[in-house]
Amino acid sequence: MKQRKKAIVDIDNTLWHFCDALYEELRKTNRRFPTPDSWTDWDLWEGYCTEDDFYNAVNAVHFNQHSDNYLPYPEAKDFLINLKESGYHITIASHRSPDYIMQTEKWLKKHGLVYDELHLSFHKTQLFTESTDVVVDDSPLVLEQAVVKGVMATGLLFPWNRLYSENGFILLNSLDEILEFILVAGSQTDG
Ligand SMILES: [Mg+2]
Repeated sequence: MKQRKKAIVDIDNTLWHFCDALYEELRKTNRRFPTPDSWTDWDLWEGYCTEDDFYNAVNAVHFNQHSDNYLPYPEAKDFLINLKESGYHITIASHRSPDYIMQTEKWLKKHGLVYDELHLSFHKTQLFTESTDVVVDDSPLVLEQAVVKGVMATGLLFPWNRLYSENGFILLNSLDEILEFILVAGSQTDG
């Protein structure tokens, strides 16, 4: 029997527009905080708030993940369903504290976001092995780690990863495009 292919899929800025939610939290600290379209790196908070303020804002969003205000991208549900129906084992892996497992599970379930495993930690790249077929993420650091391990890497294009788009991973404009890319590339490697 053919083994299922393995996909590792991020949550923030992959299944939903986390940056806008984070921006709303950061604006509570400093109303002049720059908008996400100018976030070209993750030291962006310097000069606008403290590092503690920044991570408190990140945690506030994750703590409220299951709130009604936080919606996945419209294509997210079908993206995961199609991936699963195409034979992929899906690990959803988010860079966040495992303390927010309940909120995260509730959110995934509420929006019909299917998966086989859920991994919340600050070291998700440890999941990447030779048996991983594809990583979907927006973080250039995460995508580069996948490429280093010989794993196909793709994700949504954002200001903070645009400058790294020549580094061996494929950045696209929608989850529909990402799905098509994965299925075409995956079918080419079928033996
Ligand atoms: Mg992300």
